[in-house]
Amino acid sequence: MTETIKLSKTVVLKSIPLTRTKIKIIENTIEVYKEILTIALDFGLKNNTKGHIKIRKGIYGEIKNKYPKLPTHYIYTASQDASTRIKSFISIKKRGRAYTKIPKIKRASLWLDDILFNYKDFKTNIEKLFSMDKKGKRTLHLRLSTPNGRIVIPLKPHKLFFKLINEGWKIKAGFKLILNKVDGTVKVLIPLEKEITINDNYKAVYALDFNLDNITYGNFENIEMIKTNLGKLTEKYSNIAIKIQEKFSFKCIHKQEKPLKRKGIILLKKFGRRLKNIREDKLKKFANDIAKELKEKDAILIIEDLSSYFNQNIAKKSFKKIKHKLHNISAKKFLEILKNKCLEFGVKVVEVNPSYTSILCPNCGNRLSQLYKLAEYKLADERALPSRLMYCFDCGFYADRDTIAVFNLIKRFLGCFRSARSPMNSQGRDW
Ligand SMILES: [Zn+2]
Repeated sequence: MTETIKLSKTVVLKSIPLTRTKIKIIENTIEVYKEILTIALDFGLKNNTKGHIKIRKGIYGEIKNKYPKLPTHYIYTASQDASTRIKSFISIKKRGRAYTKIPKIKRASLWLDDILFNYKDFKTNIEKLFSMDKKGKRTLHLRLSTPNGRIVIPLKPHKLFFKLINEGWKIKAGFKLILNKVDGTVKVLIPLEKEITINDNYKAVYALDFNLDNITYGNFENIEMIKTNLGKLTEKYSNIAIKIQEKFSFKCIHKQEKPLKRKGIILLKKFGRRLKNIREDKLKKFANDIAKELKEKDAILIIEDLSSYFNQNIAKKSFKKIKHKLHNISAKKFLEILKNKCLEFGVKVVEVNPSYTSILCPNCGNRLSQLYKLAEYKLADERALPSRLMYCFDCGFYADRDTIAVFNLIKRFLGCFRSARSPMNSQGRDW
């Protein structure tokens, strides 16, 4: 049995430095676009509508009067843009994170639908769009409709772009164009799509367990462990975050609710982004290697159900809380990246409910004990490796937590692990 799914991705191409005339035309187009976007936002907010069709109908006459030479489709895309912005503004407002009364247009990238440039050629006849520049390098020609007529923008395709096209990724409409006034170039964001056939005739069942320090995956015969070092990175970030929070909170009577000053939020975001990038690069590489290996082994992959994150009880201490939260974010992120990578390679992924998978014995199903918590094994440093070692007093099975999770996830997939809903039989053991 096979199953077909669609994956999407965005690739960015930069243009060669453009002539001053072209830059001016693009700048002007963006200005006009911003203006339409502002009008569209106003209309949507005043009339309490976030649907792009209603917005478009509402502003069409006014815009056509004001800019008779403007290609009509900019009104379509600006209305869609406005609709998206209103929707995301409403959700930000709900979370209490909106600092302005109306959505502000900080950056406007030009949204292009298929009529506003030579999309058909991009889709079906891309070879025709290539030509050589003066230095003998291949450029890819985007023809853009503007209020001043059509202009040609030569883009510099890169290795990744060709690789994706060769791998069967198809170019979709809905390009976005961003102007860089500093170096006189534009960036074009190109959405891609690929149909993947997932093979259900697997030869091996693998499961994977993620925690900040290591990724454990394998089956009953073979377990692999990758050290991630993300725990250290997270700890470093947590310490910075705590310092920022201490320094930039308003003083309040209630300790639990200390709102953060604007500056603090900006700093938190900055450090958060930096560490997020490092983390994501690492996770992507791990995911790619694992997906490739599973493909070679003709395996199916079992992971924890992604929705299980964020529902778990969070530890009370603040460091633990942040660490726990970050662990969940990383785990969710990693499993998402991995899932996508696997799909790209045609490896089937099955999500199963993870409850009890790290505390019950994969051998006999009874509760496991954490060795370090028992008096005779008590260690000074709780985070030393043995703390992850679990022991079964009923059958003598022992292994580290992650390996146990891998075994139990496979067993749950095979239907031979206790059901997620059955009540726990706690026997008052210190585990
Ligand atoms: Zn046991």
